[in-house]
Amino acid sequence: MTTYGAPRTVAEAVALLATTPGAVVVAGGTDLVVAVRSGKQEWPAALVAIHGVEELRGIEEPTGGGLRLGALVTHAELAGHAVVRRHFAALADASAIVGSPATRGTGTVGGNIANSSPAMELGSPLLVHGAELELAGPAGTRRVAVSAFLAGPGRTTAHPGELVVAVRLPAPGSADGASTTGSAYVRLQYRRAMEIAVVGAAALVTLAADGTLAAARVALTAVAPTCVEVPGVAAALAGRAPTDEAFAAAAGLAAAVASPISDVRASDVYRLAQVPVAVRRALAAAVARARGDHAAAPIPSSNQWSP
Ligand SMILES: Cc1cc2nc3c(=O)[nH]c(=O)nc-3n(C[C@H](O)[C@H](O)[C@H](O)COP(=O)(O)OP(=O)(O)OC[C@H]3O[C@@H](n4cnc5c(N)ncnc54)[C@H](O)[C@@H]3O)c2cc1C
Repeated sequence: MTTYGAPRTVAEAVALLATTPGAVVVAGGTDLVVAVRSGKQEWPAALVAIHGVEELRGIEEPTGGGLRLGALVTHAELAGHAVVRRHFAALADASAIVGSPATRGTGTVGGNIANSSPAMELGSPLLVHGAELELAGPAGTRRVAVSAFLAGPGRTTAHPGELVVAVRLPAPGSADGASTTGSAYVRLQYRRAMEIAVVGAAALVTLAADGTLAAARVALTAVAPTCVEVPGVAAALAGRAPTDEAFAAAAGLAAAVASPISDVRASDVYRLAQVPVAVRRALAAAVARARGDHAAAPIPSSNQWSP
C-alpha cells in the first residue's frame, strides 16, 4: 500500500522524504501518475505531495535582475507571464505547447525538470538561458546548473531526498542596455497538440548595437540522452551578421552533437536531418525577437519542415 504525506513547508517536505522509506515527490502528477498507470513504473511505497507548499509557488523578479521560478509554477503560468514572454520567450514557447490546457494547468516546472525526459520541453530553453536550480535536501541547500542536473533519460544528479525548490535565470543581455536579446524554442511535431517533441531546438542571441551577433547559445531537445547545449556556437557566431550563412554554421555544430535514437515517432536518420532545420528556425526567431520584430509565440510548429 502506498502511504501519503502532504507537507506545508519545504522543511517538512525534506524531513518527510528523509524519514519515509521509498518516498517519492509528486507535484502535478502528470508524469508520475501516467508512468504508473501505463505500467512503466510501480506505485512508490510513499508519496510526498508538495502541492500545498506555498513557498514553492510564484514567479519572482529578484532585485539583482533575472527571474526566480518556484518549482510549482505551472506551464500555464509560465506561458502567460508578461516578463517571461518578453525576456525569456523560449520558456514561454515551450510551456505553451506542453500537452493540453489541462496538462499545462497541472504540470509544473519542477516536475518537468526532475522527470528528465530527453524530450522535455523546458530543457533546451533553460540551458540556453543558463538556468540554475535551487535544491533542498537532508544536507542543506545547494545550487546546480541545469546542464549538470540532467544526467540521462529519467536520471538526474539530485542527491537522495533532494527537492527542486526553484529555478534561477540570469538577466539576459548587458545591464547597460547596449545590446538586445531574444530567445525562441521550436519543436518538430506531427500534430498540433498533445504531442512529444520529435526534434526541438532553443536559441538565445544577443545583438550588438550595429546588429551583429554579440553572443549566441543553442540547445537541442529529443536528439540525445538529455537536452544538450551545443558547444562552440558563441565562438562561431560572435561578430557575424545574423544571416542564413551564420545560422547554417551553428546548425552544422548542432548536427555534430546530436546522437538521436530511432523509435515509433521517427528514425535516427530523420531526426538528424531535422536538427539543422530546427536550429536555423530557432535562431531566426530569436534574432527577430531581439530586433523587436514580431515573432508569434509559440513559434508555429509544423510536420512539414523541409531542409
Ligand atoms: C497528456 C500529457 C501531455 C504531455 N505533454 C508534454 C509535452 O508536450 N512536453 C513536455 O515536456 N511534457 C509533457 N507532458 C509531461 C508533463 O506534463 C510535464 O513534464 C510536467 O511538467 C510534469 O510536471 P508534474 O508537476 O506533473 O510532475 P510529476 O508527475 O508530479 O513529477 C514528475 C517527476 O518529477 C519528480 N518531481 C516533481 N516535482 C519535483 C520537485 N519539486 N523536486 C524533485 N522532484 C520532483 C517526481 O517525483 C517525478 O519523478 C505531458 C503529460 C501528459 C499527461
